[in-house]
Amino acid sequence: MNKSKSSGFISDILITWYNNHKRDLPWREINNPYLIWISEIILQQTRVNQGIAYYLRFVERFPTVDMLAEAEEDEVLKYWQGLGYYSRARNLHKAACQMINESGGVFPTKHSEVLKLAGVGEYTAAAICSFAYNEPYAVVDGNVYRVLSRLFSIDTPIDSGVGKKEFTHLAQDLLSKSEPALHNQALMEFGALQCVPASPDCANCPLQSICKAFESDLIGILPVKKQKTKVTNRFFNYLFVEYQGYTYLQKRLAKDIWLNLYEFPLIETENLLNPEELPDNDDFKRLFDGIDVVEFHKISNPMKHVLSHRVIYAQFFSLKVSGLSENLKNIIQVPIREIDIYPVSRLMELFLQNRKE
Ligand code: SF4
Repeated sequence: MNKSKSSGFISDILITWYNNHKRDLPWREINNPYLIWISEIILQQTRVNQGIAYYLRFVERFPTVDMLAEAEEDEVLKYWQGLGYYSRARNLHKAACQMINESGGVFPTKHSEVLKLAGVGEYTAAAICSFAYNEPYAVVDGNVYRVLSRLFSIDTPIDSGVGKKEFTHLAQDLLSKSEPALHNQALMEFGALQCVPASPDCANCPLQSICKAFESDLIGILPVKKQKTKVTNRFFNYLFVEYQGYTYLQKRLAKDIWLNLYEFPLIETENLLNPEELPDNDDFKRLFDGIDVVEFHKISNPMKHVLSHRVIYAQFFSLKVSGLSENLKNIIQVPIREIDIYPVSRLMELFLQNRKE
């Protein structure tokens, strides 16, 4: 079937399917661009089930652009804690400040202006403009790539520049110009519920009769990705230092994972250190130069934390010290009972939770 001839047909089928199967989600049936923006940013790298609770808490605390811009970045990160990909939260805050400065807090209505917001790319701009303003911009997310690659049996890698162009063009061709918001929602939901990555429900699929991948038995290999991302291992030895009811946290300021989150003093090594190796480590000596470490022991089993490009192996040591070295004084002193105020990585959060139990 010719692509352009089939576009209205496909759109109609998807919309009918959507009306019968869509999930009831808190960001559905709204056209507030601010709320749509927040939901789309959360959903970029988060599963819907996990995202709902975060979305509800986030928009309850920051219901408007103004309230988000007025908050401290630390608080915004705290509300994001556990979701990962923290640049999303930093960019939300930055973009809210941008809107205050440029338009008095009014959300932009033009696609080209939406695209200028920090952290907003083609996907998010299309989602906001179609869902909030019903403008004809095709949304192309992972679900859309999968459905289109199977429907039309396209094996161009979806993570290549050529693939992005090809799929965006095709999605735009298929888009219902009269109901773009509904069409986009329907296609994405179809990918999320019907044409899923493993074991799509082809037997009950309303598009089965025109699906090229079904016809050619290619479902298992579509969509195609160029290459697997190289994953590196990192080894973190965290030091939970106690002195007179205080502990020590540092803010991660380097261009690396978890930017602007807080953590205990960290010694990164080639492998996790044995307790006997710790006192001989140069970073450890620098940190505790001139003071007595009265007591130290390992207080966690090695923890494995998987991120998109890295696997972090971590362990925590407890240390009691007799005073403060200059290097410790440069780190933020925090009453131990107030640690929970600070935004931390999921790894730190898990350790702190286990410590309480
Ligand atoms: S037939 Fe199967 S692979 Fe094709 S669109 Fe339907 S669910 Fe997806």
